[in-house]
Amino acid sequence: MAIPIASHAPPDYDCPFCAVAAGSQSEFTAWRDEHVLVRISLHWDPDFPGHALVFPVAHVENIYTLPDELAGRIARVVRRVAVAMRHGYPCDGVTIRQNNEPAGGQDIWHLHTHVVPCHRGRKWRGSRFRRADDAERGRYAERLRGSLRMIDQIPDRR
Ligand SMILES: [Zn+2]
Repeated sequence: MAIPIASHAPPDYDCPFCAVAAGSQSEFTAWRDEHVLVRISLHWDPDFPGHALVFPVAHVENIYTLPDELAGRIARVVRRVAVAMRHGYPCDGVTIRQNNEPAGGQDIWHLHTHVVPCHRGRKWRGSRFRRADDAERGRYAERLRGSLRMIDQIPDRR
């Protein structure tokens, strides 16, 4: 069965996530290794602050072309970020979403997974994005960094 490999990036696409990955350590980056990066989102729903994005360091446009091994690495990091948010943020749950192609809600042509801290009584719809305040983004990055370090010290409950 043919796998749909549809690219929507223009030929001269100046990829913002590749720019982040190539740049020096940013105050908004909560964690990274050579394959995967975790960053506090530039845009979020103001009712859901601290929203993070997990994305590969290498440029991959969408999930159709994501190598299995990298998919596994991303999934593990997404899980860790969810656990870290639940421990370190004042949230009651975590939503995870990954969009592919315009019809699937994608608008940045570098695969990324949204990890969104959620609260009882508020439904995250993923459609009300505003530019986040830099100082608040920085505080959430620090909080997530600290929480990721903390869960590293807790034995895994597998
Ligand atoms: Zn890219």
